[in-house]
Amino acid sequence: MTLFSRLAAGYLAILFVVMAVSVYAIAQLYELNRITRSLLEVDRRILDYEDKLRDTLLSQIRYERKFLISQDKALYDQFLLFQSDFQRDLEEIIAIAESNLAPLLRMVRQQHQVYASRFNEEVDYLQAGRLYPVVQYREEKDKITDHILGELDKVRSYGWQNSYEKLTQLAQAVADARRMAIATTVASLLFVFVVSLVITQSIARPVSLLKRKTREIARGNFEGDVEIGSPPEIAELAVAFNLMCHKLKDLDKMKSDFFSSMSHELRTPLTSIKEGTGLLLEGVGGAITEKQRKLLYILAEESGRLIGVVNSLLDLSKMEAGMMTYAFAPSSLAFLIQRVTTEIGPLVEAKKIRLEAQVEDDLPVLKLDSERILQALRNLIGNAVKFTPEGGRVRVTARPKEGGVEISVADTGPGIPAKSLSTIFEKFRQAAPAAKGTGLGLAIVKQIITSHGGQVWAESQVGKGSTFIFVLPV
Ligand code: ADP
Repeated sequence: MTLFSRLAAGYLAILFVVMAVSVYAIAQLYELNRITRSLLEVDRRILDYEDKLRDTLLSQIRYERKFLISQDKALYDQFLLFQSDFQRDLEEIIAIAESNLAPLLRMVRQQHQVYASRFNEEVDYLQAGRLYPVVQYREEKDKITDHILGELDKVRSYGWQNSYEKLTQLAQAVADARRMAIATTVASLLFVFVVSLVITQSIARPVSLLKRKTREIARGNFEGDVEIGSPPEIAELAVAFNLMCHKLKDLDKMKSDFFSSMSHELRTPLTSIKEGTGLLLEGVGGAITEKQRKLLYILAEESGRLIGVVNSLLDLSKMEAGMMTYAFAPSSLAFLIQRVTTEIGPLVEAKKIRLEAQVEDDLPVLKLDSERILQALRNLIGNAVKFTPEGGRVRVTARPKEGGVEISVADTGPGIPAKSLSTIFEKFRQAAPAAKGTGLGLAIVKQIITSHGGQVWAESQVGKGSTFIFVLPV
């Protein structure tokens, strides 16, 4: 699955879950609404009708009795009015009543009809002026109305009971809805979390594989391809990445082949020239004239200088390409400084310069590549001697510094302009354009010191001298 379809599928699944939860919540609300409505529209109204029926029946009884005593037509009319009210309310309550209440109400209707017909018979007797069994009629009517009132009591208690049941049902439905809402919310949150986790993982895993491989390449390890099957976008990236890795590996090999062949191709003939010149000077090729000797000296000196330049160039290129191998081992800086000052002694004497070395006794032992540190010291002390005029002084000091050792090479040479202090460490840069040299020495020093985790810089005052300082960590 592509990244897009993974994300789209995940979001669709989340959308579906959210919709399902919403539909369920709406259904629950409908159910609650239905129960509440039924409670208000059926049970409440049944109780109201029952009240009205009871009142109108009692009013009928009242007017019926008054009429039987006074035989006032207006009272009879009132009775009829209440009778029709009773019938109308009864029909309405039958229409809304639930099936189990209907037979009871129909019984009330039938009883009420009997009651009305008994009263009408009495009215007929009275209007005809005939005698009739008044007590018997009264007892019968009382029995019927008591019965009707008893039935209405049942309707009332039915209404109350029904309301109670529906309220219980409502409370239950609310509790169910709450439980389900909590459960569905927790389940859907969990689902969303799992879906997001799966999608994120499926994308993050191949990306972190690529990240790990990139780090290895940065460390110079080009071995092993990254295997990524999906998502296709990252799989394609991995294929291109592997291709790039192979190319880098080839380039890396070409680079190291170049360094080894160049070292060989340049150094061998130059060394042969220098050696040959030396032999000629020693007279191995026969006697030489004074003029020839002078020329051979120049030849020997220049080929020596050329070997130095080639070595510096190759060293710097190797360092810049990250191909210089350093052999770190515990070393004594005091010994290295002494060795360089001894080496340079003849030159110092020839130039009538004072070379002082102040090395403190409590220097810590550092892990260094002594050959490379010797090279850095040679470059710095060599420069100091080179730039210091006759009668000048060069002072090398070494002292412990917080977390390492600080070495400085100070001279009484011409100094370096402030604007050049930072650029002289770049290759081919020189403070004075006409200066004799290649402009590689300080660049090599910087490479060596930074490879040891240290720092190097220069301080100077034009006309007074320069100080080159480097700090090496423990
Ligand atoms: P090179 O000495 O072969 O020119 P370096 O990289 O060693 O190359 O030095 C770069 C430049 O820094 C020099 O050309 C010179 O201008 C300046 N420099 C270095 N050391 C000193 C010093 N001790 N006193 C004055 N100038 C210096």
